[in-house]
Amino acid sequence: MRQAKSRTALHLARALSAEWSRPHWRILCYHGVDPEEKESFARQLAWFAERFTFCTISEGAAFLKSNSLSRPILSVTFDDGDRTVYDVALAVLESFGIKATLYVTADYVVRGRLYRESDAPPAITWEQIRDWAARGHEIGSHSLTHAPMPLCSPKRFEQEVSGSRAILEDIISRPVVHFSYPWGQYNKSTTQRLIELGLYQTSATIHRGAMVPGHDLLCLRRDVIHPRMSVQEVETTMRFADRFYWLRHLKRNGKGYWVTHPEVSWDEAVHVNRVDPMATAPSKSMAGRCL
Ligand SMILES: [Zn+2]
Repeated sequence: MRQAKSRTALHLARALSAEWSRPHWRILCYHGVDPEEKESFARQLAWFAERFTFCTISEGAAFLKSNSLSRPILSVTFDDGDRTVYDVALAVLESFGIKATLYVTADYVVRGRLYRESDAPPAITWEQIRDWAARGHEIGSHSLTHAPMPLCSPKRFEQEVSGSRAILEDIISRPVVHFSYPWGQYNKSTTQRLIELGLYQTSATIHRGAMVPGHDLLCLRRDVIHPRMSVQEVETTMRFADRFYWLRHLKRNGKGYWVTHPEVSWDEAVHVNRVDPMATAPSKSMAGRCL
């Protein structure tokens, strides 16, 4: 019964969404891949490989800018810096010849753990980040401390975007030109600040959907996907989002889960708009000591 419902949902989603074989760019947003999720993650990538040509964020952005998109393309990204991206996902990505992008929150790497709970999953190490980049994968910034960017003062905003970039460039010895917003949270003001600072070529949100030439590179769309999902769930979710994601904007602004997330409360109490964030954020020399 449940399977029949799922199949019906998928047929409906296919009927309502645009044809995926048209030239367009999509970006997947993962976080980590646990060892028991390795096979389903591989099944997802195999399914996407039949429908899309994989590309990096740099390549996708270049296609959009040059208006030279001739086929459907897809990028794989990971947010935060979960160590399983290196320990588990990397081998799967490389078995498909995929070059992915890892958006790192520098503070998590310094602390050795994601988020700020003591039992949070381990973060990727600087050495692993270096190896990830050496293998041809991309590193982007996911801010310095995973602060909610729309709530940051101009000074804090600049520290979050420029501080993380400086640390990551120091680690991988190459330019870091891609940014992803913590919790995908952005607004007109954050986009304007990024334009004024001129540090990044692209910034990614978690606003779902497809992109075609003319799309704003500072508001890249991404489909958040869990590696445990079946390919049927993945397709249904993405296709319904293509058609109905605009409904999300009918919700009242400012009360999203990210505002009341315990991590944000910590940020608000200690950092956001009140205290110099660099007091506890990693410095370049601190990053060096943590290798
Ligand atoms: Zn994040």
